[in-house]
Amino acid sequence: MEIRAHDDADHWIPAPAARQAPVGDRHGEPRIRPANALPPRVVMLGTGDPLNHERAQASLAFQLREGADGETLLIDTSSGTILLGQLRAAGIALMSIRHVCISHRHFDHAGGLAPLLVALSAIPEAAVTVHAPPATRAALHDLLAASIPGVERWLGPRLQWSTVTPGRAFAVGDATVTPFAVEHGLECVGFRVERGSRSIVYSADTRPCASLSAHAEGADLLIHEAYGVQATADEAHHLGHATAADAARMAHAAGVRHLLLTHLRSSRLARPQALGAEAAAIFSGRLALATDLTTIAVEPVRPIP
Ligand SMILES: [Zn+2]
Ligand SMILES: [Zn+2]
Repeated sequence: MEIRAHDDADHWIPAPAARQAPVGDRHGEPRIRPANALPPRVVMLGTGDPLNHERAQASLAFQLREGADGETLLIDTSSGTILLGQLRAAGIALMSIRHVCISHRHFDHAGGLAPLLVALSAIPEAAVTVHAPPATRAALHDLLAASIPGVERWLGPRLQWSTVTPGRAFAVGDATVTPFAVEHGLECVGFRVERGSRSIVYSADTRPCASLSAHAEGADLLIHEAYGVQATADEAHHLGHATAADAARMAHAAGVRHLLLTHLRSSRLARPQALGAEAAAIFSGRLALATDLTTIAVEPVRPIP
């Protein structure tokens, strides 16, 4: 697949002129557009931190196949029923969700799993596999048992579980997903999703760490959390998070082509312009702050004549 060439100045923050990345190479640039335009492929369903009332909480959708037999991979599930509203707003059919990866148990990432499974249980054609690292998987079973007893039985064999191991890749449709451990103060994994020659890496929640650096190597797009400006670095790292400048350094060192900052605190606590400015001073590729329903088109590679 290919991240299609497109110029979208409304969303992307230009690096300082002397650091502008070359444009127009044969790999193209990511395209960001409203979710209600052409069929989306990667949709940022939620881009806020746990207490950000301006945004939905963490979730992103990879639409691996569209149409009547559509196939969607969700990574994280936002904080609750807001996930269902975001899916509807993005035009993603519930029954297309065949795979759900959960990075860690915090409510802003796992809180939407219970309502999602309840919704899927009412759709006879729905079938889903939940992928999570071992302690997180155990916590999710407990969460479901505590909050909606019986939901796993309602789905029966249509609900499968898969325990992921950091560094061990698995297939989802025609994509390959590699989980990797990150440093968040409790079990947490990021994900590298590869399809054809294209790669997208999601940091999940983490302070800067070597594992993320290694798995972000050469990615077309790095979707990275950003707690705040550099003045908040000590607090961010103590809490298992990273600053916008940390994300930019990571992207620069890993040779990432595009950086999308997400998991943002409310604008009162972390001014988006300040985050963008600090990151743009370090990272010379294309850079943007995600907004809810930001959509990135990832399209089939065309033969090169
Ligand atoms: Zn977290
Ligand atoms: Zn979080």
